Amino acid sequence: MALIVQKYGGTSVGTPERIRNVAARILETQRAGNGVVVVVSAMSGVTDSLIKLAREVSERPPEREMDVLLATGEQTTIALAAMAIDALGGRAKSLTGAQAGIVTNRVHTRAKISNITPGEIHRHLDDGNVVIVAGFQGQTREGQITTLGRGGSDLTAIAIASAIGADICQIYTDVEGVFTCDPRIVPTARKLDEICYDEMLEMASSGSKVMQSRSVEFAKKFGVRFEVRSSFNNQPGTIVKEETKNMEDVVIRGVSVEKNQAKVTIEGVPDRPGVASRVFNTIADANLVIDVIVQNVSKSGLTDISFTLHNDDVARAREALEPVLSEIGAEGMKALTGVAKLSVVGIGMRSHGGVAAKLFDCLSRGGINIQMISTSEIKIAVILEEARIVEAANLAHETFGLAGG
Ligand code: ASP
Ligand code: MG
Repeated sequence: MALIVQKYGGTSVGTPERIRNVAARILETQRAGNGVVVVVSAMSGVTDSLIKLAREVSERPPEREMDVLLATGEQTTIALAAMAIDALGGRAKSLTGAQAGIVTNRVHTRAKISNITPGEIHRHLDDGNVVIVAGFQGQTREGQITTLGRGGSDLTAIAIASAIGADICQIYTDVEGVFTCDPRIVPTARKLDEICYDEMLEMASSGSKVMQSRSVEFAKKFGVRFEVRSSFNNQPGTIVKEETKNMEDVVIRGVSVEKNQAKVTIEGVPDRPGVASRVFNTIADANLVIDVIVQNVSKSGLTDISFTLHNDDVARAREALEPVLSEIGAEGMKALTGVAKLSVVGIGMRSHGGVAAKLFDCLSRGGINIQMISTSEIKIAVILEEARIVEAANLAHETFGLAGG
């Protein structure tokens, strides 16, 4: 008998019919002789509409109350899933995060799991039940309800799999797995059989948002192997696991695209200590997430600093930085929207040279201008004009031999 954790995301449980399908799938797994613990998200759209409701009664809802509110989304799904299993003649028990023994720190709306005491889970499993746990939530030591940040049900599943020593952890979602690129952008993209944690993290931070990054980091830290697969068919998905030797043979695992980016440049800043610190502390204080940062070599004591961020954040960045410009003696600031980021990702880069040259070469053949470049050990990212991003992604995908068939 294997102990299996299955996580079903919002779209997989988005309608009563889908919940019934999921219930049937769960029972099939249990009847094949396995112990099954299921983690569910709120039905699709529910968390968003709860957030909207909160904003309609208050401009700044207290975070403690946000957690009480948002936790109801997943609490609805666990009850419905358990009822659906019961209706099919199976046995199931639903557990809230707190009942499942998930203890978190006190940071409301983005709490971290501090430990899991899975006594209740085991008790119900031993009684022959499927255990259905509410994702995305836990409670503090003092018994306050907390939530784990958007997409947090992934983290619940990985953490429970680790805590109960599950043999298999399956993340069921509305895509078939992790692809070499988004198939809506590159039609020849194909599903990967496996990918290592670091590549998965780079793909996620580069826009291929299949899973919450924190949950992948957690899986890496505790060595939890998991599979991302579709809840709409029975095809095997993508195994996400520790790095193995033969994985380095593939130079590039995938190409990832992030649209709706903007490039902000602060021009003519004096090249002296403290300037970058002042700029980026201001941005951090405004809670803005930025991505690629480039500072030029200075000419006659002056330099330019550029960074990228989401289109929607440009106005806030301007507002925050405007007062700082004269203080640091900058000549001006300009923002360019309509750019996008293309990344090629793969641990094989460590042992294969010439990857950057090959990428730049294919873009040059396409006559696509590179505006910014940033690299890590396993990623090369470039900022391009957004209008050319689809073309660029297809060129890179083809150049690195990622196409299927
Ligand atoms: N329901 C939460 C959200 O929409 C958690 C999750 O789906 O993983 O962010
Ligand atoms: Mg989700």
